[in-house]
Amino acid sequence: MSFPKYPPPLLSAQSPIKRNYDVVGVSNKEYAFIMKMVKEKFTDLVMAGLDLLFPPTCPHCKEMTGHQNRFLCVECFSLLNFIKTPYCTCCGRSFSSGDDNHLCGDCLKSSWNFDKARSIFVYEEIIAGLIHGLKYSGNMTGLATFQHLSRHSPVLDDLTIPDFIVPVPLHIKRLRERGFNQALLLARKIFPGETEKIKYDLLLRQMDTPTQTGLGGKERRRNLKNAFVVKKTSEIIGKNILIIDDVFTTGATVNACAKVLKTVGCKKVEVMTICRADKTLS
Ligand SMILES: [Zn+2]
Ligand SMILES: [Zn+2]
Repeated sequence: MSFPKYPPPLLSAQSPIKRNYDVVGVSNKEYAFIMKMVKEKFTDLVMAGLDLLFPPTCPHCKEMTGHQNRFLCVECFSLLNFIKTPYCTCCGRSFSSGDDNHLCGDCLKSSWNFDKARSIFVYEEIIAGLIHGLKYSGNMTGLATFQHLSRHSPVLDDLTIPDFIVPVPLHIKRLRERGFNQALLLARKIFPGETEKIKYDLLLRQMDTPTQTGLGGKERRRNLKNAFVVKKTSEIIGKNILIIDDVFTTGATVNACAKVLKTVGCKKVEVMTICRADKTLS
């Protein structure tokens, strides 16, 4: 007995249909142009309808933004503190004055396990609220905002094109409690065209470390000793890795991840976080 093949082969794959619109008095090129215009106008109309039915509001102040494509109101957007020159060429920390990028005091004194870190924002009220809402209330609207805002960041161009994008993993217990890993969600949103490169199973958090909030750098480093382990080592030897996390506070977490990745032979390990919570240097 033979079963019909499923799924059936696409009609277009077997016999591509070439339409000719000359019969209605327009060339194929003109037809494509007309359809593009119709599609654009239709999309505008749909968006205008959505604006009327569901007025978009700013996720921070809840004021109406006036447009579906505006992810923060104009006032809140103007308050964002994007990291831009001058900043530390290694760890990406923002300087409040000066014209040129250079190494900060910490990077001159000691070295990190990662090669470079960049963050989009200084950790301030609006960004902190969006991150807090995402992590602790499962408020996913912040993700679209971060996706949109990351395109305005001037520092991400410094990063090497990675072979793999690795979100900082959560311990399985924390993952079950929260139901998602915010670093993975951020990676998928900020690099929507790179889904093949995003690997959530290369690094494992094998120890359920206590919360890092309120701890200094030394205690955080102690907490994170042996916290991470690399899986699938053979896949990443000689590769360039980009680690993703939400907040860079002392850098202890991403540094611990970078350490195990470098130990197994990754070529370059760089870090991208949404924001920087340590002090801006003057
Ligand atoms: Zn607002
Ligand atoms: Zn630095």
